[in-house]
Amino acid sequence: MNIFLFILIVLSMFIFMEVVTWFTHKYIMHGFLWYLHKDHHQPSGTVFQKNDAFFLIFAIPSWLCIMLGLQAKNYPVAAIGFGIALYGLGYFIVHEVIIHQRFKWFTRSNNTYVRTIRWAHKMHHKHLEKEDGESFGMLWVAKKYWQKIRADKKRNKQRQELATSAY
Ligand SMILES: [Zn+2]
Ligand SMILES: [Zn+2]
Repeated sequence: MNIFLFILIVLSMFIFMEVVTWFTHKYIMHGFLWYLHKDHHQPSGTVFQKNDAFFLIFAIPSWLCIMLGLQAKNYPVAAIGFGIALYGLGYFIVHEVIIHQRFKWFTRSNNTYVRTIRWAHKMHHKHLEKEDGESFGMLWVAKKYWQKIRADKKRNKQRQELATSAY
């Protein structure tokens, strides 16, 4: 199989998984599987959350695609599995590490994109209950959150300029 086609499938799957995650989060986790997701909105203080079960739920199809795809030399199927796995890794880094800081690996970033995804997810967590949520995606965020962070940064910069020009 052509390596570029393989990479294209992996990347397409990565993007597709953002859509799957948004849908799953909005309609399933905040739907009939709320009992697994609830402790992510109302933390119980334990190291592991019931919500972490979703990693397993997504890991199973990924692992099956990789294993069966490689065994049958069906590389498009294996590429789909790798795409899901890559998204899982990205989700882990963005959601667990950068946003929730469950591991203190990175210090707070001032990068506009990082601040925007953190703010958008913070707005998601503002809602403690199953209903009336907002911002269910992870890597793709709505324009209004970008605008808020850009406006914040602009205001801070102006304040700094005013402060320095006062001397
Ligand atoms: Zn949620
Ligand atoms: Zn969260």
